[in-house]
Amino acid sequence: MKISGAKLDKQSANFVASPNTSGEFSEDLPDTIVIHYTAGSSAESSVRTLTNSKVKASAHMVIGRDGAVTQLIPFNTIAWHAGESAWGDRRGLNKYSIGIELDNAGRLTKSGEQYISWFGRSYPEQEVIKAVHRNEEKLSYWHRFSEQQITKTYEICELLIDTYDIKSILGHEEISPGRKSDPGPAFPLDKLRERLLHSDRSDQGDNEMAGVDNPAVVTASMLNIRSGPNGGTQTIAQPLKNGTVVDIKDEKEGWYRVDVKMSGWVSKNFIKKAT
Ligand SMILES: [Zn+2]
Repeated sequence: MKISGAKLDKQSANFVASPNTSGEFSEDLPDTIVIHYTAGSSAESSVRTLTNSKVKASAHMVIGRDGAVTQLIPFNTIAWHAGESAWGDRRGLNKYSIGIELDNAGRLTKSGEQYISWFGRSYPEQEVIKAVHRNEEKLSYWHRFSEQQITKTYEICELLIDTYDIKSILGHEEISPGRKSDPGPAFPLDKLRERLLHSDRSDQGDNEMAGVDNPAVVTASMLNIRSGPNGGTQTIAQPLKNGTVVDIKDEKEGWYRVDVKMSGWVSKNFIKKAT
């Protein structure tokens, strides 16, 4: 897979142009990737929607359940995927980010033995994950992403990181909490970030800052971790427990931005190793 002229090569992706853009990014941007699910019935229907000028929405790419990629907007051009959104001191993430949409039905409702999407299609149990969303407290049912989609998302993010100066990979749910719940807990967002932006990259010698460089420890019994440097922003995970080791990455107005490293044992049945 290659990018030239802000487009994926023809062997790797179809290009179907969307008119829903607001021109080129400013200098040094994009520096962020935002991951979404389509909450749609197929990749084809999502491509149709996101290229329709009457629909004020678009994204740079749609990844189908078979891993096929359709690019709608060149990577140097602003797409309309984030809507009202905030991260740190930024507002309106479209002008900072590349948007990737994964074909997925989203949250499902259980009805007898079936799991039903908002548009009425039913999904069998093996396509369903039961999990608590990072912004919520109760269990919900979520449509699984296919392995091909997850693998393709890794590959594309890696390529984008190598091509542009990508510093963050975020979920729509993190920049528009309350309003949006995509990509949701069925998508391994934390693992993707950890692998592509942190530890593994250091093996390639392009990141001297491997591992924890500014270790610190949580002294409160429970410490909220938030999307921005003030108490009015959303919490983005379960509170950190006393004694949790964190890595200080930035400081602002009485707040630290920290990475949290964690190590523990998990069942192999629920882990997929990246390629
Ligand atoms: Zn979204």
